[in-house]
Amino acid sequence: MNLWKNKKALLLAGILLACFATPAKAKHGAAIPVLNYHSIGVDPGNTYVLHPDTFARQMDYLAAHHYTPMTLAEFATVIQQDQPSPTHPVLLTFDDGYANNAEVALPILQKYKFPATLYLSTGLVGTPGYLTWPQIHELSAAGWDIASHTVTHPHLPKLSKKAQREEILAARAKIEQELGKPANTFAYPYGDYNRKTLRILKKAHFSYAFTTHAGWASSDQPPLELHRIVVDSQKPFEEWVQQLTEDTSK
Ligand SMILES: [Zn+2]
Repeated sequence: MNLWKNKKALLLAGILLACFATPAKAKHGAAIPVLNYHSIGVDPGNTYVLHPDTFARQMDYLAAHHYTPMTLAEFATVIQQDQPSPTHPVLLTFDDGYANNAEVALPILQKYKFPATLYLSTGLVGTPGYLTWPQIHELSAAGWDIASHTVTHPHLPKLSKKAQREEILAARAKIEQELGKPANTFAYPYGDYNRKTLRILKKAHFSYAFTTHAGWASSDQPPLELHRIVVDSQKPFEEWVQQLTEDTSK
């Protein structure tokens, strides 16, 4: 009788365990909003130029709502699900390398101690309106990750495989040589890529690459085809909040 009782208790324990274990088994992949900024300045009507006041308001929103902007290394541990996610994780990325990223965005981000990632087109460095290498060193010293966005910002699918490889690898080599840190993530200029591009990145051991496919980046997406939220200066603030708080990539 006792044995039967024990069996029954074991069975009950088993059922309970199975019930409680179910949520862990059904765990969804990690999903993180990755915001994609370009220029932070004053140019009304230009989609890719966000007014500094709007940028400041957005960063203030992140701080007030307990978001955790991450470094690329932190992003990797969360998307790989190696580490539990911090509260409201978010990755802030800036494409191309505008001078105002250091002059305008950096002081605002420093107020909140938010890190960011710069996807730099190395051929633009030092040209009018773009960052200089001393400014890029300043961003790196402030905790920004700097990675490749090609040399000349071409539409990659229009190039031969050899030319694509040169654009991608020369930019990475230049950044690594200047800053002495690995730069093995990538962002596609105009969000454009083809199978050749993916093969080059894979062979050169890039860990992640960002597209402009709308939505949150997630561990369910191929690591070289992660989604981002391109911040459009013409959209109302509420829409930015909605993109940040709701994953539209599903
Ligand atoms: Zn770009």
